[in-house]
Amino acid sequence: MVDAHAHANRALVPKLLATMAAERVSAAFLVAGGVVSPMELSHTIVTEGPGRDVDADNTELLDAIGGEPSLAAFYFANPHRAAGEPDLALIDRCAGIKFAPGVHGIGHLDPRVQSYVDAAAERGLPVYSHCIGNGALSVDQYARLARRNPEVAFVLGHAGRGNFDLDAAREIRDTENVLFETSGGFDFVIKDAVETLGAERVVFGSEFPIQHPRVELTKLCLAVAENDLPAVLGGNIRRITSTGKSTEKSTGTFSGKGGSA
Ligand SMILES: [Zn+2]
Repeated sequence: MVDAHAHANRALVPKLLATMAAERVSAAFLVAGGVVSPMELSHTIVTEGPGRDVDADNTELLDAIGGEPSLAAFYFANPHRAAGEPDLALIDRCAGIKFAPGVHGIGHLDPRVQSYVDAAAERGLPVYSHCIGNGALSVDQYARLARRNPEVAFVLGHAGRGNFDLDAAREIRDTENVLFETSGGFDFVIKDAVETLGAERVVFGSEFPIQHPRVELTKLCLAVAENDLPAVLGGNIRRITSTGKSTEKSTGTFSGKGGSA
């Protein structure tokens, strides 16, 4: 099993690895955490902004997981600036690029966002975003971004707008380069996403440490047919990612040999 979306910093890595081992999760894609406080993040998600200009410590995370073959990072972009040389140098060490409209408040169709998508396209990396609301930060605008960049794989985080959003799967249905990540959605919503998009477009993510992986795995086991579980629990995210870790093939952590659904 591969966790398509978790958060960590250096201090959290040991706890994450212990949790993964206990839940039989063989690999995880991480985003640097702690950029804003949980209270501030909650407030900006609920109120749709305004967001602010703040950088995640991507370097700390990359250095912390450099020797750990089961962990790879998505670059947490700050689209208050276009992608510059320092960003690109860090993106070269990452397995994807992540946007957090709830943190930064920059719309998906902003040219500065596109500069990071260009970097993803050049490197064959996927893009992840947590959409909020109905305006510039929305699922609809994210789907438009994906249609402008058909060569890039996009992941719609947190089951769209979270818990009970049946619109999100329909908003991305015809945009086949967008996958649906399940953390935070009700099991009813996950079942609907598999029916609407097909199991090959639905991916397991935990949102650790905000959510325990066991919660999400239990939900998926209830919502997804047994035949579809291997794809949802790891096969789909492995299809669109490559960690770049030299030990990847020998350990099998990301390649599918180490985990069992
Ligand atoms: Zn997250």
